[in-house]
Amino acid sequence: MIFDTHAHLTDEQFNEDRDEVINRIKREGMLVLNCGCDEKSSYLSAVLAKRYDFFYAALGMHPHDSKDYTDKFEKWIIEHINDERVVAIGEIGLDYHYDYSPRPVQKDVFIRQIELANELDKPIIIHSREATQDTYDIVKKYLKTKRGAVLHSFNQSEEMLKQYLDLDMNIHFSISGPVTFKNAKNMLTLVPNIPLDRIFVETDCPYLTPVPFRGRRNNPTYVTYVADKLAELYGKTTEEIAEITTQNAVKFFGINLKC
Ligand SMILES: [Zn+2]
Repeated sequence: MIFDTHAHLTDEQFNEDRDEVINRIKREGMLVLNCGCDEKSSYLSAVLAKRYDFFYAALGMHPHDSKDYTDKFEKWIIEHINDERVVAIGEIGLDYHYDYSPRPVQKDVFIRQIELANELDKPIIIHSREATQDTYDIVKKYLKTKRGAVLHSFNQSEEMLKQYLDLDMNIHFSISGPVTFKNAKNMLTLVPNIPLDRIFVETDCPYLTPVPFRGRRNNPTYVTYVADKLAELYGKTTEEIAEITTQNAVKFFGINLKC
């Protein structure tokens, strides 16, 4: 079994064949966690989680859309956070690469959703791009729930990895397709420093497609190419990496797998 812990199957790129893609996940015997980015994708995530027993959902407002965060949306999250297979607040964070929302708004909404996670006692899924220090400072100051956080598509420095681990706040690190890219040399030295009990695999589909499918639309079944690369880096088999990362994520998100 393998668990794609970060997907966007609610993205419009799946509008033509969403059911087909989801059925393929089912056939492969995988688990998938779909992250909300805004109101619509959070709502659709919750609907799909209700429909499929291998489909988990996170609800939240992405930094790109943080200018659209409202009390009404927050209330909706509170009402649905304990729905079956809704397991986290995400994806939330800071993105200073695109700056689609003003930075002060991104920070406010990130903090507000962390405080919501504290209150609801749920883990958070963090997006951080070109905002390394601000992300770290906010997590350190505001994250109170012991449920912790996962830094998705983690590609920061070894020093930042160490600083997050030193916080002792149950921080996890999720690795995506770029670890398979030829130009991702920093990932090859970074990844083996991540403790094996703190690592997940993800696709971030439809984005970040791993080699050998780079350039095409990504989908959750391609998460095995990320696991292959981690197997190489940790000196394990792909099956062992799949097992370890799945168990880590199941534990972190508080998932109760019926055998
Ligand atoms: Zn994402």
